[in-house]
Amino acid sequence: MAQARGSETDFDAVVVGAGFAGMYMLHKLRSLGFSVRVYEAGTGVGGTWYWNRYPGARCDVESIEYQYGFSDEIQREWTWTERYAAQPEILRYQNYVADKLDLKKDIRFETRVTAADYDEGSARWAIATEHGEHVRAKFFVMATGCLSSARVPDFPGISDFQGESHHTGDWPHGGVDFTGKRVAVIGTGSSAVQSIPVIAEQAAELLVFQRTANFTLPAGNRPLAPGEAEAAKESFIEGRKRAYDSQGGLISFEYIEAMIDDLDPDFVQKELSDRWHQGGFSFLGAYGDLMATPEGNKVAADYARSEMAKRVADPAVAEMLLPNDHPVGVKRLCLDTGYLEVFNQAKTKLIDVRKTPIERISRTGVVAGGVNYEADCIVFATGFDAMTGSILAVDIKGRGGESLRDKWAAGPRTYLGLSTAGFPNLFFITGPGSPSVLSNMIISIEQHVHWIADCISNLEGRQVRAIEATPDAENAWVDHVNEVASLTLYPVANSWYMGANIPGKPRVFMPYAGGVGVYRQKIDEVAGAGYEGFTLDREAQAASA
Ligand code: NAP
Repeated sequence: MAQARGSETDFDAVVVGAGFAGMYMLHKLRSLGFSVRVYEAGTGVGGTWYWNRYPGARCDVESIEYQYGFSDEIQREWTWTERYAAQPEILRYQNYVADKLDLKKDIRFETRVTAADYDEGSARWAIATEHGEHVRAKFFVMATGCLSSARVPDFPGISDFQGESHHTGDWPHGGVDFTGKRVAVIGTGSSAVQSIPVIAEQAAELLVFQRTANFTLPAGNRPLAPGEAEAAKESFIEGRKRAYDSQGGLISFEYIEAMIDDLDPDFVQKELSDRWHQGGFSFLGAYGDLMATPEGNKVAADYARSEMAKRVADPAVAEMLLPNDHPVGVKRLCLDTGYLEVFNQAKTKLIDVRKTPIERISRTGVVAGGVNYEADCIVFATGFDAMTGSILAVDIKGRGGESLRDKWAAGPRTYLGLSTAGFPNLFFITGPGSPSVLSNMIISIEQHVHWIADCISNLEGRQVRAIEATPDAENAWVDHVNEVASLTLYPVANSWYMGANIPGKPRVFMPYAGGVGVYRQKIDEVAGAGYEGFTLDREAQAASA
């Protein structure tokens, strides 16, 4: 192992973000002998799980699958308590890993990176923080997460509101007491669907402002039975290998590849029913064209609507809650615990803001359709500037001073979701153009960390000063990502996958829908072929140039 290099201002690698991705990137590079500095805006590790402390926050991937797989020791030492772990348990796990691997000493907390400039002469990045600190690094890794740039819509009058208001993705550490209060929740995505039932337990009145009804199915969360977590540890490492080659990085269910027309209708209905009642994303794998054709999707969507309707007592309210403007699964499927039943309580009122748009926030509440809905607290469950928001929050300038914000003005462009032409030695973990948010994030994070770490060690061993995607390779990859997306129904919905939730954001399908296993094969082939599609700038060549 090489001797760790670097000084307090000069590192082999600087990593932005100390969530699952940044933590593992730090550990991996450090264990290979590289000097690494991580910058993190929060006061602790955790990323998504540090910021999203809203009531009811819970993972929608089963806890046994939503953990690091790089250490058999770690997975054996940690025991999950529920099928879907709640935010505090995941954050405890992340702190346990960080402490076990002594990661925190190399993380600068409460520090946002503001700018990064590539210096061609030295082939190093000059990185600046909000506190005026300046460091240099050969490699710059954005581990900023895909859903970390919380977004409150630009409603007029927000600052006039006299009550308490919070975004779910930036929740107070001490929690919020809603007891006896009138609470307005704006948004009905996953964060709202998880938080509303818990808020309803305390609130005196609950106003839910819905723009788009979402598909939601019961998560089926439960405590893990005695011995269940222990038994899972025995097969974990073998299962992890299968997950790396799977479609979505999940192995708790199978995707049926046969098309719906080739299956017996009774079999299809039974699959839909079994999968619905099993909870989780298995529902979307009931047959091959569920996510590919409107006809195939409609059968599952009808099934989902019929199940959802059973849970709502008032048919008029049920009608409002049933999604009818997008196929099932093309917006992230919500997994809930008692969400729809909240609308059976007299204290809950559902407001359709398609019919009566939110006009403004007043001193005393939310004004929609000319009515001032009075509230003591407003919860903005309004989502994120997804996938690109946190990357572009840093003013990144590549070769010749080219700005990444300018380069991506019409939508993100990457080669393999890992890099972008004109920005040597810059890597993204689970960036746009990779499976990321369409997969079990931990699997995709590990896949990228392994690839980036192998790449960096390989380059260092061959005296390569810079690696950069070629424009041709990038164009071909962007075309491929679009082509694969066009074979699915994803692009038809106004989802955050498309950037459609942010006014003015280019409408581009950002993740790669080809699947984790297929993607892994592609990126490994690229590496195996000597980093095909990249130019490698060798030190000897640079010296003689
Ligand atoms: P989201 O899915 O983007 O939902 C935001 C909600 O706010 C939507 O209902 C949206 O309506 C509404 N909204 C946004 N702007 C609005 C406006 N100006 N007026 C009225 N309504 C507005 O955000 P999220 O719920 O935070 O979830 C984001 C993603 O994070 C999820 O899809 C999931 O991947 C992840 N997540 C996962 C979990 C989990 O279960 N583990 C929990 C939370 C989040 P439209 O739909 O019409 O845009």
